[in-house]
Amino acid sequence: MSTQDVLHRYLFDNMHARGELVQLEKTYQDIIANHNYPEGVKALLGEMLSATCLLTATLKFEGEITVQIQGDGPVSYLAINGDDQQNMRGVAKLAQQTNAFGLKDLIGKGTMVITIRPKSGEPYQGIVALEKDTLADCLANYFETSDQIPTSVWLFTDMSTQKVAGALVQLLPDSDDKEQQLSDYNHLCQLTQTIKEEEIFSLEAEELLYRLYHQEEVRIFEPQNVNFQCSCSEDKVLTAISQLGQEEIKDILAEQGEIATSCDFCLTTYRFTEDHFADYFSDKKH
Ligand SMILES: [Zn+2]
Repeated sequence: MSTQDVLHRYLFDNMHARGELVQLEKTYQDIIANHNYPEGVKALLGEMLSATCLLTATLKFEGEITVQIQGDGPVSYLAINGDDQQNMRGVAKLAQQTNAFGLKDLIGKGTMVITIRPKSGEPYQGIVALEKDTLADCLANYFETSDQIPTSVWLFTDMSTQKVAGALVQLLPDSDDKEQQLSDYNHLCQLTQTIKEEEIFSLEAEELLYRLYHQEEVRIFEPQNVNFQCSCSEDKVLTAISQLGQEEIKDILAEQGEIATSCDFCLTTYRFTEDHFADYFSDKKH
């Protein structure tokens, strides 16, 4: 398995913590391709992508996670959406052109919304104000306030090669010895903290994990491939447009001859004419 576009999950046996590592190349490049995002926006979207992969790997059921950021800065909206199969997609919307870098300068005053949608069952949503300087710190803050499970996240971007990566260490609240849990967790965070950018972008995951944790007992699970995949389809777009109602659709068709719309995530354009809607609305009547 190639070192890129793979997510690793592991458990520190004899310690009360788990970890994850993700290294992304093609998935990231596919997500930013053709969008003409400024460099700073690409970098932040890359951080969000790594973060969402790490979060998605914590799903214990079939479903998806969406991480959204909204703010009053030059970038008004960012979203990364991924499922338990590590199919990822993402989008950024700009309020104005910008050369800014970094969460604060791009987003201004903002919030992060994390939505978990199980395939069966009720969705769950957590919201956290973006009060820290980096996305990684905001995520740690999110875990602290929502789940009360100490979690540390490290995010890396290399804009020259268009690669992104991330690591996570999470305390496992699996015993009553709170002091020991926290001490294990802090120890593993200190080790993980030593990851160098050139290591995470050049080393195979196994080698990197060995360098970091060779003194620990690490049980590595089956790695998971990460892909760019958009879940849009003609049917879904048609259903969304149909919400406008038959009358309004008729008016637009009379004026423009067709209704064309592009997917925000993958930029696929869908075109609909009278025939599509005739079929759609006649189907609904049955
Ligand atoms: Zn799409």
